[in-house]
Amino acid sequence: QLTPIIDVLEEVADRFSFQMQQKQMSIAVIVERGVPEVPMDRDQIDQLLDNLVSNALKYSNEGGSVTLAASLTEKGVAISVEDTGIGIPKKDIERIFERFYRVEKGRARSMGGTGLGLSIAREIVKAHGGDIELESEFGKGTRVTFILPLVQEERGYS
Ligand code: ATP
Ligand code: MG
Repeated sequence: QLTPIIDVLEEVADRFSFQMQQKQMSIAVIVERGVPEVPMDRDQIDQLLDNLVSNALKYSNEGGSVTLAASLTEKGVAISVEDTGIGIPKKDIERIFERFYRVEKGRARSMGGTGLGLSIAREIVKAHGGDIELESEFGKGTRVTFILPLVQEERGYS
């Protein structure tokens, strides 16, 4: 169903505000003027954003910030989740969307989790006909960006 992206992002930010506060972190939502409503399976997109924001929270130190942003591109609406967290080493980035893949077992084990979040995120984006990518600088932060197309063709969701 056609959904204003600002509503989706503000709801996610609200869901995480308590956990963010507990870590002295801040979360902001920036939606470019004129971004159109997007056809989406709302439950799936909520799940996808929960995965990405929980990563941003989990892999950041106290005092960090998370930014949820949306803008219009020629491929559709681009939505990004950016953090100022611990980042991902270059050698791990290309495998990061694989099931069960986690960076450096030692660091990952202490965090808890299964290594499925990003692979599920990618499946949800693909079901919407879009693409997802991750950019990261080790020690500086990470940005995950996905595109939701505005045209609905052969949707993988109802
Ligand atoms: P799960 O999401 O299943 O609870 P997980 O968070 O370990 O477990 P993914 O979300 O798939 O699994 O992420 C895979 C790995 O990528 C993580 O273990 C972590 O090492 C790294 N990672 C993911 N997001 C970030 C991020 N925002 N900053 C730093 N590292 C990240
Ligand atoms: Mg995760």
